[in-house]
Amino acid sequence: MMVDLVLEPAANVCALRANDSDRLDIRQVAVVGAGTMGRGIVISLASAGLEVLWLDNDRANLDAGMQMLEQTWAQQVAKERISRVEADTFLRRVQSVERYADLADADLVIEAVYENLALKQDIFRLLDAHLKPEAILASNTSALDIDAIAAVTERASQVLGLHFFSPAHVMKLLEIVRGEHTRGAVLDAAQALGERLGKIAVVAGNCPGFIGNRMLAGYVAEARKMLLEGALPHEVDTVLEQFGFAMGPFRMYDVVGIDLEWRARKLAGKGMQAPLVQVDNQLCEQGRLGQKSGRGYYRYAPGSRRAEHDPLVDALVCQVSLALGYRRRSIDPEEIRERCLLALVNEGARILEEGISGSCADIDRVWLNGYGFPAQAGGPMSWAQAQGAAQILACLERLRGMFGEHWRPAPLIQRWVVEGKAQLPGG
Ligand code: NAD
Repeated sequence: MMVDLVLEPAANVCALRANDSDRLDIRQVAVVGAGTMGRGIVISLASAGLEVLWLDNDRANLDAGMQMLEQTWAQQVAKERISRVEADTFLRRVQSVERYADLADADLVIEAVYENLALKQDIFRLLDAHLKPEAILASNTSALDIDAIAAVTERASQVLGLHFFSPAHVMKLLEIVRGEHTRGAVLDAAQALGERLGKIAVVAGNCPGFIGNRMLAGYVAEARKMLLEGALPHEVDTVLEQFGFAMGPFRMYDVVGIDLEWRARKLAGKGMQAPLVQVDNQLCEQGRLGQKSGRGYYRYAPGSRRAEHDPLVDALVCQVSLALGYRRRSIDPEEIRERCLLALVNEGARILEEGISGSCADIDRVWLNGYGFPAQAGGPMSWAQAQGAAQILACLERLRGMFGEHWRPAPLIQRWVVEGKAQLPGG
């Protein structure tokens, strides 16, 4: 199908034209949730010229969100990035509302409430009941099943994931998650919206964690396993930062908040006993939630974001791993780098094979723009291709021999070796 890009910011319209009858114009957007993500999403939308209706069931959060918007734009005025007039215009575009009925005219709603499937389903039922039938319903979920959310509505073809990254007005990546029933015109409109917001949009299939967080899960699991086996958080981070990552996994947890996953585990009532999360659990129970509480995997001087090594955390890691029965050993930098990077590559190959991502380039875009993968290495799949098929397969087989079946090479990697090409098949 031939597609014409139609961006009409002056008229407050953002749409791709597949054909006139199928064109979905986004003029009025609604955001549900005024927490970390909702705030960044609203800033991004209003700064790009869109009218925004904003709803949260906690009035105090909504008021704090409006204040945060004002402060953010005031800071941008102070830095001469925008004018005072622009800041006032942006703010006037945002209207806080109290009832779902107030969202009736929205063309698109982006839900950003707590990461809990039952809660999101309740909200989608309400949205489905109150919004016009042609409105698009999107969830900012990080990992939940878009089809399970769409299934509670009468309009599964109008439902998709719009996975922004934190802070949403700063981070460039937008994962557009295609549900089983999401129709093409809805994906087109989402792509156009991404472009309007200045994002790098990548379409992903629906699976736990989509492209980015699904790969992150394996990478973080290796990092956490190495803590239990003998490494310390600053050692793992240092190796990955020397490789070129913007930050290692434990510094990243401090920035994002160690408590996000901890609360999700508690809310879902599962996963609390898993050995790999025992260090995180204990840090959270001690109020060490990350940068925001001044202490997490590292400690932070008041008002500072500089991560300082904290020997108390090293002691906690050793105590947890010994209590779990590990005999700690020294883990060299080469092993840390290899295990973290190959976990990304092997999962990336599975994601390609399952059609969750259409190309190695898309996977690389996700990791470069959402996870601080070093640009000079080109992304995890480009890095793997630079190593060569035989080398990657040999490393995976060695790790499988040492640590078990979860290192079994993805079938696509085995095919890559057989085909003898530089590029991964289908990549
Ligand atoms: P948050 O805890 O900061 O904010 C959640 C907001 O939802 C709160 O303001 C709360 O009052 C509101 N809320 C809860 N129940 C509600 C209801 N029934 N009706 C209306 N509002 C309700 O959460 P967050 O970090 O902004 O995360 C929101 C979503 O974005 C989650 O699905 C999360 O997985 C996803 N996400 C988070 C990040 C991140 O780094 N924080 C990154 C990407 C995606």
